[in-house]
Amino acid sequence: MSHDTMLHRAQARLADAAKHLNIDPTILEKWESPKETTQARLTIQMDDGSHKHFLAFRSRYDDTRGPTKGGIRYHPSVTADEIETLALLMTVKCALANLPFGGGKGGVQIDPHPLSKTELEGLARGYVRCFSHVIGPNRDIPAPDVNTNSTTMAWIADEYAFIVGEWTPGVTTGKPTSLGGSLGRDDATARGGYYLLQYMAKHIGFTPGARVAIQGFGNAGSHMAQLLESDGCKVVAISDSKGAIVCKTGIDIKKLNAAKERNGCVTSFAGSNGVSKIAADELVSVDCDLLVLAAMEDMVHAGNAANVKAPIILELANSPITAEADEILKSKNFVVLPDILANAGGVIVSYFEWVQNRQGYYWSIEDIHALLKTKMEEEGAAILALAKDKNITLRSAAYVHALSRLVGAIY
Ligand code: NAD
Repeated sequence: MSHDTMLHRAQARLADAAKHLNIDPTILEKWESPKETTQARLTIQMDDGSHKHFLAFRSRYDDTRGPTKGGIRYHPSVTADEIETLALLMTVKCALANLPFGGGKGGVQIDPHPLSKTELEGLARGYVRCFSHVIGPNRDIPAPDVNTNSTTMAWIADEYAFIVGEWTPGVTTGKPTSLGGSLGRDDATARGGYYLLQYMAKHIGFTPGARVAIQGFGNAGSHMAQLLESDGCKVVAISDSKGAIVCKTGIDIKKLNAAKERNGCVTSFAGSNGVSKIAADELVSVDCDLLVLAAMEDMVHAGNAANVKAPIILELANSPITAEADEILKSKNFVVLPDILANAGGVIVSYFEWVQNRQGYYWSIEDIHALLKTKMEEEGAAILALAKDKNITLRSAAYVHALSRLVGAIY
């Protein structure tokens, strides 16, 4: 069996983790396939009156520890296989973070960029009409992911309320704060990774003023750039789907944000302030101290892993490093802060949002940040201790930590 599809890779990592625990290996059979995956034809009416049809998915991989939780992505490369894999990763991540959730994921096979606002609203509402029998605050709770955002979640919550006949904010997380969203959800994924990095700093040799390269400048990547810049790091390279830029003296992130908002791509910032363009795929080989992967899966692979120069790599994206690349980085003694731990901040603050929605009482930003920091440090400390104790990588330790919680919930 090849280990280099995302699903096989996640399953192989669980199987490896099982070797470090005193458990019956047949227990892993439970996660060989999802509990349920629903596929639908989603139809939207375009502004010109025509109808277009798209493949849509929702997968609930495992609900052993609670209702399934996971984002919705809009992307032309979405497949059932990809969504199921991401749903398994969510299962592991929620267990790792000790949240009372299982793992799910959803997606639509579409490039949403050419759509108007009305068409995007039709897409979100259409998604709920396809899956209103699957999702629910005690069953399966969507959130934003690639190409979806708080506005998408507002439309989803509104359409769901219309279908079930009552306002049910806990059906989705990542909503605008005016509709029951949590303070601090917008930058939660990056902030969780940032708290982890700060906590791990002395163990992994991360020092103030470090030079950072960031792949992906969307929700996760742009917030991480801001947090690291305010902490005194120099962001020397950034990419998005259209290209990459470099600047030895550090890119001004506020100005870059403004340029990206105006022109839709980071390369529009090249040409001034010592910033120049490079090819998007050159970003991973930029000379720096920390590489943040915040774009898509499989971006560091057997073909480019040997070119990575950063001795510390933080995975904000899901599954951005292939199994072969992982081995290459390991042989160079590079430290990888693994996705299921490093990007857990998003689902952790989503959990806080779900709790606030159920109790109808909302917390301050200071409380959210403090709770998130505590969680990242607690789980980070447990995983670091496991890695040292068993002499395994942080990724393996993260899987061992999560698997022991999953198994503990099976009777
Ligand atoms: P997003 O859509 O806001 O941003 C994605 C960014 O990646 C964009 O800037 C896009 O241009 C860029 N990109 C796409 N292909 C690229 C390529 N080939 N090279 C360089 N850049 C490329 O999405 P996001 O929410 O920031 O998610 C990014 C990753 O983080 C995904 O893997 C997602 O699953 C993961 N993640 C996100 C959250 C969250 O709360 N948003 C939580 C956990 C994990």
